[in-house]
Amino acid sequence: MAGRVRELSRDAERGARARLVEAWAEGLDTRVLHCRELLHSWRPSHAQLCVDGGWERVLVCTRCKPLKRQVLDSEGCLVGSPRYEYAEGYLPDREDGLGRLDVEDRGRLRLAAIRRQQGAQD
Ligand SMILES: [Zn+2]
Repeated sequence: MAGRVRELSRDAERGARARLVEAWAEGLDTRVLHCRELLHSWRPSHAQLCVDGGWERVLVCTRCKPLKRQVLDSEGCLVGSPRYEYAEGYLPDREDGLGRLDVEDRGRLRLAAIRRQQGAQD
């Protein structure tokens, strides 16, 4: 009995999460939705030589236009983690309560992208 109650509660949580992610996906710009489910399509924008012989390299996503800044040493190896600058609307608002997207959320985003594409063809 307790197991069945736990199962129902988990199903309810999943359903609520699905509705939250689907509602968020619906409000996303199509380019952002595609980057959320396909990942960004980076291309080099520019690079600047640093005094230590390394580089600061800037990439831009061809779809949703955020910037990714990489710091490279003189051998071209990454130093630290890249920094991202997103346009408004890419990151969920804290008030949305989405938090980090998981595997199931990404599946929902793929289906939302497919539904949107199918709807555009009708
Ligand atoms: Zn992108």
